[in-house]
Amino acid sequence: MLIDLHTHSTVSDGTQAPGAVVAAAAEAGVDVLALTDHDAVAGWAEAAEAAERLGVVFVPGMEISCARDGISVHLLSYLHDPTAEPLAATVQRARDSRARRAKRMVELLSADVNIDWPFVLEHVGAEATIGRPHIADALVARGVVRDRTEAFASMLSSRGRYYVRHYAPDPVEAVQLVVAAGGVPVMAHPAASRRGRVVDDSVIEEMVGAGLAGLEVDHRDHDESERAHLRELASRWHLLTTGSSDYHGDGKPNRLGENTTSPEAFEAIEARATGSSVVR
Ligand code: AMP
Ligand code: FE
Ligand code: FE
Ligand code: ZN
Repeated sequence: MLIDLHTHSTVSDGTQAPGAVVAAAAEAGVDVLALTDHDAVAGWAEAAEAAERLGVVFVPGMEISCARDGISVHLLSYLHDPTAEPLAATVQRARDSRARRAKRMVELLSADVNIDWPFVLEHVGAEATIGRPHIADALVARGVVRDRTEAFASMLSSRGRYYVRHYAPDPVEAVQLVVAAGGVPVMAHPAASRRGRVVDDSVIEEMVGAGLAGLEVDHRDHDESERAHLRELASRWHLLTTGSSDYHGDGKPNRLGENTTSPEAFEAIEARATGSSVVR
């Protein structure tokens, strides 16, 4: 059983449409797939339809961008009710803020490089949550940088002069909202220190107090010692552990099914959820 519970489509910063992500998963031998676009659920219907057709079990999900003291935290939500308030309103607020922020970053960039807002919008999918990867794609298309990786290492760095912050809920609040929406909250790549600052374990403990169900342990941004530490935290606080690819199509090197979740953890997630159903 290949279970991959963290992937992105053109509804956020992946490069394939939701149905194409499912088709690629079927091709890669993935049996159970979650689509977890950043702050978006607009891909669920297309993915579910493709999954039923291709014999893949589909888990509706979302990755919520959160922040604590300026440190980015990503929270995976599985099987929540997409219409439940106040989760839906909070996510919409983040999406609106992201749109204003991206426009501002492009304004700052346009003083120095050949880029403008209409051109960036050509790189954003319909109903997509806009993020720095879309600005990166526009910079690549204009020959300013070679790929997204180079863009993030230079012009789009959070420490760079073009960076602008956007609204993001506190991770403890996000856990509460997911639980209230009948979803199952799992912290994404909690120890991915190579991509930026990560929160202290005390913040994870606060999230556990609010109803956090699990930690994503097996992820390419974690080394062996980080994984061992996360497993220890999971055992201490009685949390599930998951593993996943964080697939972004051609937007990142991550391959579908490169890290996987156990059938037991998947069953536990499904058993806890009351907001939406697994499609099989
Ligand atoms: P944002 O949420 O707009 O601040 O941008 C962060 C997003 O960019 C995350 O969702 C990552 O998936 C993506 N990202 C971060 N670093 C890289 C990178 N080096 N290459 C490609 N995508 C990246
Ligand atoms: Fe992403
Ligand atoms: Fe993430
Ligand atoms: Zn992700």
